[in-house]
Amino acid sequence: MHKTVIVTGGSRGIGAAISLGAAEKGYDVCVNYLGNKEAAADVVQQITDAGGRALAVQGDMSVEADILAMFALVDRELAPLHALVNNAGVVDVKARVDEMTADRLTRMFAINLTGPFLCAREAIKRMSTLHGGDGGSIVNISSVAARLGGPGEYVDYAASKGGIDAMTLGLSKELAEEGIRVNAVRPGVIRTDIHASGGQPGRIERVKGMIPMKRAGEPEEISSAALWLMSDEASYTTGALLDVSGGR
Ligand code: NAP
Repeated sequence: MHKTVIVTGGSRGIGAAISLGAAEKGYDVCVNYLGNKEAAADVVQQITDAGGRALAVQGDMSVEADILAMFALVDRELAPLHALVNNAGVVDVKARVDEMTADRLTRMFAINLTGPFLCAREAIKRMSTLHGGDGGSIVNISSVAARLGGPGEYVDYAASKGGIDAMTLGLSKELAEEGIRVNAVRPGVIRTDIHASGGQPGRIERVKGMIPMKRAGEPEEISSAALWLMSDEASYTTGALLDVSGGR
């Protein structure tokens, strides 16, 4: 196989696990990151040490020019694009909706929703049989927050993931005859830096009692679901919203 996957936010957490897992499956990997150059370089190093091919690409996935530059670099440097994982995403600090500023909402939707749309657009131009491509797969990393709603914490984040789910459903139908499957993984609480980034380093301990399995998930448990959705084993699966959440 000589195919490329772009993993947005591939430097840490779930994205890093997906990047490493995709390389093991033989993909060339574009490991996108925002600011943590060392983390991205470490993922690329692990892939190249194991004999794979990867490229760390800095780019803010809420900025269209950065997205265009990333896809152009992948066109030049790596194998033909066969998969996109829209993984980059953020939470903001805990707040009620009546405390949220317009700037917060604009940033949230730009990173978590507009960015994935623009990345999907660029991937479709390269993968759709309508545009002369060989087909491929898009996996969106949503969240169970899309159906729980995130009350008192981050309804804005939950709404951005609800948008991702709707995009997944619509795009899967739009592209079904063009060789592109579009699916989403909806993680529950996963052990990554995102909770501390949102000002809640103790969040896992606080919420794990509400999870039927009574534990957080590991990034690799999301990666395996995303890689299955990308693979030919999921050849008849499109428009799926796959909860990987310990039963929550
Ligand atoms: P994380 O550990 O905080 O890592 C975030 C990754 O996204 C990093 O690689 C970061 O790059 C990158 N990133 C952030 N903003 C970016 C931007 N504007 N442009 C490009 N890259 C950006 O997050 P995570 O927990 O792995 O989350 C990954 C995805 O899973 C997100 O969409 C999140 O909403 C979703 N999710 C997570 C959980 C959970 O409990 N962890 C649950 C449900 C859904 P740098 O390393 O350069 O900062």
